[in-house]
Amino acid sequence: MKHEKLIELQKQNNLYAKNLLLIEWVIGIISSLTFLILIFVASYIDMALLVRVILILTSIIIFIVGMIFALRIERIAGYYKCGKCGYKYVPTNKQMIFAMHIGRTRYMKCPKCNNRSWNKKDICIDTKE
Ligand SMILES: [Zn+2]
Repeated sequence: MKHEKLIELQKQNNLYAKNLLLIEWVIGIISSLTFLILIFVASYIDMALLVRVILILTSIIIFIVGMIFALRIERIAGYYKCGKCGYKYVPTNKQMIFAMHIGRTRYMKCPKCNNRSWNKKDICIDTKE
């Protein structure tokens, strides 16, 4: 009975992480598109210089805020799995910001084995430990 409850909780957690990562996509796409559209408008449509500057600044702010929230979501949804030892962990904000990444795979230092490697996003909780 206890084991069933644990599995149920795991399923809920996985679903929660999946939904969060979907929201990250939506935020990323909306903020990127808004950024590109505003920059395009500011570059190609005739307008006063002040309006142009305000549009560009607005687009940059929207982009930065969007990326901050996307990164926050990506950090807390599920875990990152160490490429060396397989340990699953939630990285610090600093690690998230400064790590090289390809999609959601980030080059980070594992808190358990201290090796640097490409860490993949893994939404499942490890129940073995
Ligand atoms: Zn490791």
